[in-house]
Amino acid sequence: MNRQTFDALGIGASLCRALTEIGYKQPTPIQAQAIPPLLNGDDLLGLAQTGTGKTAAFALPILEMLLADRVKAEPRTPRVLILAPTRELAGQIRDEIAGYARHTNIRHACIFGGVGARPQIQALARGVEVLVATPGRLLDLAGEGHLNLNEVDYLVLDEADRLLDMGFIRDIRRILRLLPEDRQSLLFSATMPREVQSLADEILFEPVRIEVTPKKVTVEKIEQRMAMVDNADKQAVLQKLLFRKEVSRAIVFTRTKHGANRVAKKLVKAGIEAEAIHGNKSQNARQRALEAFKSGEVWVLVATDIAARGIDIDGISHVINFELPHEPESYVHRIGRTARAGASGVAWSLIDPEEMKRMRAIERLTRVSPGKLDVDLPPGDENRPPAQQSAAPSAEPEKRREARSGGGQDRAGNGEGRRRRRRRPRRRKAQAAA
Ligand code: AMP
Repeated sequence: MNRQTFDALGIGASLCRALTEIGYKQPTPIQAQAIPPLLNGDDLLGLAQTGTGKTAAFALPILEMLLADRVKAEPRTPRVLILAPTRELAGQIRDEIAGYARHTNIRHACIFGGVGARPQIQALARGVEVLVATPGRLLDLAGEGHLNLNEVDYLVLDEADRLLDMGFIRDIRRILRLLPEDRQSLLFSATMPREVQSLADEILFEPVRIEVTPKKVTVEKIEQRMAMVDNADKQAVLQKLLFRKEVSRAIVFTRTKHGANRVAKKLVKAGIEAEAIHGNKSQNARQRALEAFKSGEVWVLVATDIAARGIDIDGISHVINFELPHEPESYVHRIGRTARAGASGVAWSLIDPEEMKRMRAIERLTRVSPGKLDVDLPPGDENRPPAQQSAAPSAEPEKRREARSGGGQDRAGNGEGRRRRRRRPRRRKAQAAA
């Protein structure tokens, strides 16, 4: 890619100035790939996760096109709608946009639930070009007449897989019905399960597809081990593993939300401070679980793949795969939670014979075969090898709580069928407004 500057990609002077101030020297791969087609007016399907620079990849060309249009939004009538699954993500996007737009007169607002609506209503009434929102509050305010989505030219669905995982599909469809047909639509997702693909098929018109692999995980630095354990024995084995001295802070991955709940509950019963985090939990509950994990109050987080995304916490000594993920790439994302910031880490996998095929796919992807993990199988089966390690003392949890203090730091679809959409010619060159 010989386009090494934002300027060469078509981003104008006022945005480039802000980018220089913020310290962006050159576009990331997703930015280099996404900005030209977006400035050209194309729809976009982006397979990328947080950390790739995807926010700027969609925000910069949209801001540039707004500047070129020089049309001010009417009160309560935004021109850009960015939908995000959580208020944290919505806030992050708003903050990034505020930084990029600092030398322009583009106005923005962020609306989400769980807080008073009044300031949000007032911001909308003053008029904003760019609106970042979570689906529920958006629909509430639209329903109460505080918001008119008739003039939305640009729609972004960010983290679409997580939006769907959190049960927002009906809200999204309701929102889509409020939007004009003639708009440019973008959908970003870290994974592309069938549901996301069909949503993309509904809302995108002949999209440009961009796929960016996440930050390279230094799989080499992670000590990977696996043990064959029948599903029925996994809980008992997990508990013993967690009691090993070297485990100071662990994320346990399950494939389903129910699985995460079940495992966490049993851990707590066994005296291990654990919390589950998944898409069925309320925003507040998830936040609380994360805070407790970061502070060391709980030292085991039981998570599903999608809920764990974007969680960036230092000092995770172990990632334990209670079940293997369906997609080999998710395994790489999971184990990348340990060995952050150059540290080495450990990943253990408990594999039921039924999961062996998945393990082989993972080995093909990572080109690493995990070593053997010695585990203590529960008694009661003559065919099993003798236990190699005794059970942990019962006073252990209390001691651990003291030993593990703090340390963690967070850095951390309308269209039924395809639309034939009239396209507006979009101007590519920058015009510094304001
Ligand atoms: P995102 O994937 O959008 O969450 O971005 C991840 C991080 O990368 C954010 O902290 C951005 O501020 C930062 N970032 C995005 N684009 C660039 C760039 N071109 N140069 C340096 N940092 C960037």
